[in-house]
Amino acid sequence: MIKTDILIIGSGISGLFFAMKTAKKRPDLSIVIMTKEKAKNTNTQLAQGGIAVVTDLIKDSFNKHIHDTLRSGGGLCDKEVVNMVIKQAPERLQELIDIGTIFDKNEKGRWDLGLEGGHSQHRILHHKDSSGLEIEEKLLKIIKKLPNIELLENHMVIDLNTETKKNKTICTGAFFYEKKHNRIKYIRTRAIVLSTGGCGQLFENTTNPKIATGDGLAMAARAGAEIVDMQYIQFHPTALVSNENPLFLISEAVRGFGAHIVNEEGKRFLFKYDIRGELSTRDMISDAISKELQLTGKDHVYLDCRHLNTAEFYAHFPIIAGHCNALGIKPEKDVIPVVPAAHYQCGGIKVDQNGATKINNLYAVGECARTGLHGKNRLASNSLLEALVFAHQASENIDRTIAEFTFSSKILIPKFPKAEQSNDYHAFTILKKELQSLVTAFYTSEDRNADLAIQKIEMLNNTAASLIETHEITIPFIEFSNMLAVALLIIKQCKASQKEIC
Ligand SMILES: Cc1cc2nc3c(=O)[nH]c(=O)nc-3n(C[C@H](O)[C@H](O)[C@H](O)COP(=O)(O)OP(=O)(O)OC[C@H]3O[C@@H](n4cnc5c(N)ncnc54)[C@H](O)[C@@H]3O)c2cc1C
Repeated sequence: MIKTDILIIGSGISGLFFAMKTAKKRPDLSIVIMTKEKAKNTNTQLAQGGIAVVTDLIKDSFNKHIHDTLRSGGGLCDKEVVNMVIKQAPERLQELIDIGTIFDKNEKGRWDLGLEGGHSQHRILHHKDSSGLEIEEKLLKIIKKLPNIELLENHMVIDLNTETKKNKTICTGAFFYEKKHNRIKYIRTRAIVLSTGGCGQLFENTTNPKIATGDGLAMAARAGAEIVDMQYIQFHPTALVSNENPLFLISEAVRGFGAHIVNEEGKRFLFKYDIRGELSTRDMISDAISKELQLTGKDHVYLDCRHLNTAEFYAHFPIIAGHCNALGIKPEKDVIPVVPAAHYQCGGIKVDQNGATKINNLYAVGECARTGLHGKNRLASNSLLEALVFAHQASENIDRTIAEFTFSSKILIPKFPKAEQSNDYHAFTILKKELQSLVTAFYTSEDRNADLAIQKIEMLNNTAASLIETHEITIPFIEFSNMLAVALLIIKQCKASQKEIC
């Protein structure tokens, strides 16, 4: 059995920022980061638009950013959390800059601030259109230099272990699958930080990479943590139409730069639905596109960039332009076909202002956590910011947990079926597609039939269970089981919120 002081599950912005801060502050603590694939394979590295921070105190203000966040969240944000996150933002940004993260400046040497939907001011710091990759690479570089951090790639955590002491549930370790040796093992730890990202892979159209299967959420739920607001899945209005999984995102910043959304006839239509047009929030635009598609009977709309300055467009958005070009689309000449796609989970593992769950020694940060910042609908570019602030909060708080906790001598390790790498991946690929189609149909339908959807999930569950009776446990099986658990949470929480509305 291996042991460590702190286990971080996930190597995106939230896990790495937490690790960096804690390792520097407490060189006496050992920290292990486990990540299920290559460290860089995260939602973080795909982030294009950037990070929302108030830096221009003449035109902008904390109050304006707070107001925009609350408005986007549809009355469901926690005001104290919104206030804390937005006011802390400049300090956290400085910490990224201090480790060498580069954000674009204009010819006057000032931040080149982008504008995105729902923001009343230009306030998005970015690194061209690959902001997330820049942050991920700089964090990974520093993590690899810190001697008290061990980064374990291809280590997939399967479940958390909890113990009950004096009527308190305490998280004391985790079971993980080590791909290289094809073994399931246990790690004993004094604190666990879940930073496992979102669950976009539950949907047919998503911008989230294949790792986004909601593992952290499912594990936390099994351990008894509270999961809330899963009925609020954010759809990004402009994912590039293709057969790829994930769909390539055309950042919000492109609309902030002046691009229009047009229908089959080349006409702008968003103003029919919201006076902010292209600069409305994601929920409003996605909804407007869905209505337009119903009216026209088409399956996508277009992003029109043809009126924009071509040289500036290519300079600001080299990755987006390059991706379009590779598919034969020239943004200066052609309209770009786009559809709304599942992008971000606004709900998640309920945490307090320190990122602590209700289970002792279990923290959740980043997209897997529900902090209260986003309400019903996250404001663009507030997610990277939330990840930084809550990683900081958890890092400040964890000292106390670490100091108080002592290991129990007895740890019960449940039996898992033996791991087998060369299992029948194909069967699970088919099941995953069925689940994606079920969840998408349920979530996007006007009259959601939760009971029928739950019955179908149970059938899929039985099929998956029968597959491992004949096969050994595999990564697709673990991911699929987690996806089923998260699908149930979404369906049940949609049902409960529909009842509340009635
Ligand atoms: C295409 C795209 C563009 C975006 N653009 C922006 C933007 O411009 N601005 C913004 O603020 N937000 C943006 N977002 C959202 C933002 O990128 C994410 O919310 C954020 O990066 C999540 O960071 P994270 O640390 O929570 O998790 P992630 O970066 O998703 O990392 C999750 C990690 O957990 C690991 N993991 C998961 N399950 C397990 C397991 N069982 N065992 C071990 N490891 C596991 C994964 O392998 C991965 O390392 C974008 C998202 C996407 C998909």
